Amino acid sequence: MARREHYDHLIKLLLIGDSGVGKSSLLLRFSDSVFETSYITTLGIDFKNRVIELDGKKIMLQIWDTAGQERFRTITTAYYRGAMGILLVYDVTNESSFNNIRSWISSIEQHSKDNIINKILVGNKADMDERKRVVPFSKGKALANEYGIKFFETSAKTSQNVNEAFFSIARDIKQRLPDIDS
Ligand code: GDP
Repeated sequence: MARREHYDHLIKLLLIGDSGVGKSSLLLRFSDSVFETSYITTLGIDFKNRVIELDGKKIMLQIWDTAGQERFRTITTAYYRGAMGILLVYDVTNESSFNNIRSWISSIEQHSKDNIINKILVGNKADMDERKRVVPFSKGKALANEYGIKFFETSAKTSQNVNEAFFSIARDIKQRLPDIDS
């Protein structure tokens, strides 16, 4: 982990969504620029850091992966502690992963009554053959609009919109943080 003096803000982000939607893959794509499934399953990563620069400030993004907890639908309160932003992820080729976004949002609300958490909606696996797609872009966009959050279709495989999604939520969070001017 980088020493404190190497960044101006620390932002804790979570990836939430059904198992298999590509959360670990998005994390690795963003942090290490790789797409390697075998690596993911064997390591069961907890979190990864990446420092980005926004408006001349260095932002340490600490991004947490559920590491399989979601399979049992028992994401612990500890996982949510200190979270400032959540990327809600579904798979555009998996309808139930999309339908479950609503229940993920309710469980986030239960776990985070006292703190503000920015959210964005992410439809992953956008690279897949159009014949495999079951959730059209318009449905994702409509759901995001209903919750008043931003929406991106991404691909951890090709990198499509991966940086854009993480930078977008980081920017939203940074705007509500007290600025550190020194
Ligand atoms: P998690 O359980 O949500 O962390 O999902 P994983 O990251 O383990 O991914 C589940 C499976 O989907 C793996 O076989 C990945 O290779 C695959 N996958 C993840 N993201 C993408 C993507 O953007 N495109 C495609 N085609 N496959 C993906």
